[in-house]
Amino acid sequence: MSCSPAPHDPPRGRLIVLAGPSGVGKSSVVARLREVLPELYFSVSATTRAARTGEVDGRDYHFVTQADFDGLIDRGELLEWAEIHGGLQRSGTPREPVERELSAGRPVLVEVDLQGARAVKAAMPEAVTVFLEPPSFDELARRLTGRGTESAAQLARRLDTARAEMAARDEFDVAVINDDLKAVVARLVHLAVDRAPLPCADPDLSPQESLQ
Ligand code: 5GP
Repeated sequence: MSCSPAPHDPPRGRLIVLAGPSGVGKSSVVARLREVLPELYFSVSATTRAARTGEVDGRDYHFVTQADFDGLIDRGELLEWAEIHGGLQRSGTPREPVERELSAGRPVLVEVDLQGARAVKAAMPEAVTVFLEPPSFDELARRLTGRGTESAAQLARRLDTARAEMAARDEFDVAVINDDLKAVVARLVHLAVDRAPLPCADPDLSPQESLQ
């Protein structure tokens, strides 16, 4: 028995697992990354939480009921799932699209919390786990406060989660400080496809910058 791909199978795509404390700016990084690297498949999580203003079902998340989420778990359709923010909501990564895209040779990005990153790495050790960290904890607290979408209790819970997540930085394959969007995106492109982005993909992103 051989584990090598058949001669005509494309090489499997690279799986990138992006995590980092709440408020660190993952969504801006992911949005820019998807523009610069259209071949990247972004895993759309299922979640039991309500959509925020501007979020689109099927693009940002699959917004599902608790019963639907139970069904996904029971049928083994989630690669991983976790209770987020003290169990107030559950979010999980649909397994099939990730497998399908990796097998087709496309890079895949999964954006999850710390538990999710650990679970994906355990299930798929070839995944590259990336920790997006804020320039400082004070800066993170400032960004979380500035967002203004959470109550005081929710904010306190997010800061607790963020503190615990910051402590896990060293478990990750790569840590990237989110102080320069272009540099962070260039680094992720490099990790996802092992090459610099073409200048035509983003005129603002020179190949030199992308290799930093
Ligand atoms: P938010 O509800 O603010 O979009 O995300 C809250 C947290 O849930 C973030 O840390 C985000 O990375 C995480 N998250 C989103 N989708 C998933 C998922 O499918 N699995 C896991 N484990 N965490 C997720």
